[in-house]
Amino acid sequence: MSQKRDLQAKARRMTHRVVIAGGGQAAGELAADLVDEVAAGRVSVTIIGDEAHPPYQRPPLSKKYLTGEIAADRLILRDHAFYDANAITLALGTRVTGIDRAKQEVAISSGAPIAYDTLVLATGARVRELPVPGADLEGVFYLRSIADADALAPYLSSDPDLGAGESEPRGPSSASPQVVVIGGGYIGLEVAASAHSKGAKVTVVEAAERPLARVASAPFAADVSELHRTRGVTVLCGASVTAIEGRERVAGVRLGDGRLLPADIVVVGIGVIPNAELAERCELDTQGGILVDGQCGTNDPAIFAAGDVACIEMPGIGRTRLESVQNAVDQAKHIAATIRQRCAAPGSAAPSPAANYAPVPRFWSDQFDARLQIAGLARGDEAIVKRVNGGGKSYWHYRDDTLVAVETLNDARAFMAARRLLEAGRTPPRDMIADGTQDLKSLMKET
Ligand code: FAD
Repeated sequence: MSQKRDLQAKARRMTHRVVIAGGGQAAGELAADLVDEVAAGRVSVTIIGDEAHPPYQRPPLSKKYLTGEIAADRLILRDHAFYDANAITLALGTRVTGIDRAKQEVAISSGAPIAYDTLVLATGARVRELPVPGADLEGVFYLRSIADADALAPYLSSDPDLGAGESEPRGPSSASPQVVVIGGGYIGLEVAASAHSKGAKVTVVEAAERPLARVASAPFAADVSELHRTRGVTVLCGASVTAIEGRERVAGVRLGDGRLLPADIVVVGIGVIPNAELAERCELDTQGGILVDGQCGTNDPAIFAAGDVACIEMPGIGRTRLESVQNAVDQAKHIAATIRQRCAAPGSAAPSPAANYAPVPRFWSDQFDARLQIAGLARGDEAIVKRVNGGGKSYWHYRDDTLVAVETLNDARAFMAARRLLEAGRTPPRDMIADGTQDLKSLMKET
């Protein structure tokens, strides 16, 4: 108790006030990375998040949380006791409504403005809404938050008793709900796999000619489509949705070619929009996200941005936003290092300046019992070398003579090897990769 009082007293004598707008993955990581500075009284940290929960991980929302395999407490990154014990202020259920850059303070939805020395915008992204008639009918769901997953989960079960939230029966097919997923990106496909595993009949409708068109190569996407088809999910590509039909509740999805797909529920996963409006309103530079430099800094030296909302220059790719846990965590760590450096104790050896943020991006997705892992970033115009090893497959992307990205399906070894090679900037010969019998460890030694 006295240790906690000590920490709080030190926090009150704060020297450097860090305010984090947004309370998700990046915010949680940044706060946790600064606990030593808070304990030393050099920094105070306030997280302002509009959700009711402390920072939590979203990936299980479309996977094991949606299927009921894990409970909500497993999503929370650190519980209230952690923030309490480390004197980190959590203002939950609170929105940042404005930024006054001259006064260095943020306005919030309830209470007095909060002053900052460093402001970190970690406001993430929100779902893109489907712009067709009927999209507001009951039974149309989106998935971004715990609240969204809690609303959706009961409708996926083939057990009618579990449809607890329903005000009306699902209709004739309630024994096995018909779910139409609009959007064949990672989240749409994960929801499809989860819904199928709960007993639903699932159709994925994708406007492009193949799923994962924005984020994966054609051969990798073909493997993923095949995975779904063999499990019994219908995947319709090149299919535009013109309306959601039904009286008060969803009854079907109308396609551009006139077909009506019967549906008890519809899940829309057509991408996200970065929550960059706060930055726009106070005239920070934005361009499809908040523009940041190699230190994750905006054009105001007191303001940083991290995670889904940040738009950063990536070598060989240009300005891009990366929507992944790895990016949110690593950008948060990068900003924490800069804050540590700015707040170094007088007389202490100042840490050397952090190098520019230049990670090898990583992403994973679980669908059915398959694990997809991606390292690096492909542009889409690279030469692809396929490697098959036992049940695992991987696609190695070469831009000119340089390895730039690898997509793996059920091949954790290939993923780890690829990650190490990419991090070391090494390129294995294509013929060695194509030969699935080559041991990846020796391959790493030889290249
Ligand atoms: P978020 O975690 O979205 O946090 C932002 C928070 O800020 C939110 O709580 C938001 O409500 C709040 N906020 C916004 N505006 C304000 C405001 N003005 N004031 C206060 N609070 C505000 N990534 C992977 O790498 N692998 C996966 O398998 C994977 N699966 C995913 C599955 C789902 C269903 C979803 C939704 C995402 C998934 N992701 C996955 C992506 C990953 O979760 C995100 O990239 C990550 O959460 C981004 O972290 P963030 O902190 O930038 O944003």
